[in-house]
Amino acid sequence: MVFAGLLPCCPDALLPLLELLSKCAELGVVFAKLTLARMHFECTHDAVRQSLATYVSPAAALEYLLEAADVHNACEAHALLGTLHFQGSDCNRGAAAPVRAAEGRAESPFPYSVDKSIDHFKKAVESYDALAEPKQLVTRHILGAFSREKVMIRVCVTATMYMNNPTGLLFDDRPFVSQDPKRSRAVFKWAASKGFSPAVAILGGANPKCAHCGGNNPSNHCPGCMCTRYCSKECQRKHWGNHKGECLTIFHDEVLANFGECFVPSRRS
Ligand SMILES: [Zn+2]
Ligand SMILES: [Zn+2]
Repeated sequence: MVFAGLLPCCPDALLPLLELLSKCAELGVVFAKLTLARMHFECTHDAVRQSLATYVSPAAALEYLLEAADVHNACEAHALLGTLHFQGSDCNRGAAAPVRAAEGRAESPFPYSVDKSIDHFKKAVESYDALAEPKQLVTRHILGAFSREKVMIRVCVTATMYMNNPTGLLFDDRPFVSQDPKRSRAVFKWAASKGFSPAVAILGGANPKCAHCGGNNPSNHCPGCMCTRYCSKECQRKHWGNHKGECLTIFHDEVLANFGECFVPSRRS
């Protein structure tokens, strides 16, 4: 691959590259379509964006992206779709401009949807895991490597939207999503089943103990916080006096302890 590092620093090479990509896209080459779509939605470099506009329209970029996801199940396409659904065309930060425009990116063509965002992030990880040669993603040379870890973090962090939010610490700039802790828990369980250790930790660790009696292999989670575990309803009931004070905040404390750094970029004002 000859693309490495070439886009912003070498304008002479940009046009032939875009020409080549658009010809290949017209011939149906999936890699070319996906690359053009990712460049359209992710590139923040003014000169590149201007040149790109003559080779791929917003409508074509969207069509390429959806085809890469729906027909070819490309992990990078799903990761980008997850981002676009989360950033939402209708999603403003107070009086500020939509976040993508503020970053110099193309606007999201989708309305804000946490459900769809989570679905696409999950599909991104699952399709990546199904690749025969996970390291051979060619578009890493142009737009950076696909990071399973980062997508895992994003799916988990996005799933926290469904938890109650007493501290206001997570996503305080996002529109309201109705509380559905079961939904959050299902995503964390999925992530834990994929070997994602922060999710395992939040669900009580690899070798959880009952918070009341200390018994091994507790089968129940507290339905309020999903972190604290019990071997029975009886243990949960007996422990409630101790637990109720922390139940509302423990999940957020755990999420921040395990994913805290991920929230810094999402909280810029
Ligand atoms: Zn117990
Ligand atoms: Zn609880």
